Amino acid sequence: MKVVLASRNKNKIREIKEIYRSVTGCELDILSLDDIGFSDEIEENGSSFEENAKIKASVPASLGYIGLADDSGLSVDALGGEPGIYSARYAGEECNDAKNNEKLLKKLENVSDRSARFVCVFSAVAPDGKELSVRGECPGIIANSLLGSGGFGYDPMFIYPELGKTFGELTPDEKNRVSHRSRALTALIPKLSEFLKNYD
Ligand code: IMP
Repeated sequence: MKVVLASRNKNKIREIKEIYRSVTGCELDILSLDDIGFSDEIEENGSSFEENAKIKASVPASLGYIGLADDSGLSVDALGGEPGIYSARYAGEECNDAKNNEKLLKKLENVSDRSARFVCVFSAVAPDGKELSVRGECPGIIANSLLGSGGFGYDPMFIYPELGKTFGELTPDEKNRVSHRSRALTALIPKLSEFLKNYD
């Protein structure tokens, strides 16, 4: 049975294939929503990363594929987990990375506990309703200002303590080795490989 990633992001598909190959030694034949001609928007109205990943993965599953999806974001301890599932649109519907970053830095002015984590949850859902979910987390510290121009989203304000740099200051390879997404993917792959054995 074909695996369909509930995303149009070609980079995500490439990353999943690469990590799958390095963990299992096998190729994963994975399609995108565009590949199966699905053009509707999927409404992410869950209340957790897990729920949103499952909502997205359920769409290809309802069309007879193994659906795969991820949902990720930044969770700041002193803000009770904000921006969390609202990471992409933290500063409102018309927001962008710069506005989201500005809002978060403002909220953390004079806040001494700056601990945070990037979270990524992958879900797989089969047409018979069976599902699999894994979570990857990368702990860090929120900087007082933006540092570095690499990456995207909240990367320039997220200090990865073991390297003493923000994600915005790391090379893509350095970030990929430790990121929430690669941790989730590395945990997902052996489980997904077992899960897929139930479906031809
Ligand atoms: P998505 O679920 O991968 O689309 O991520 C949702 C939002 O979380 C993004 O728009 C970013 O604001 C934030 N985010 C997720 N992963 C990262 C990351 O690796 N670096 C910076 N921001 C991220």
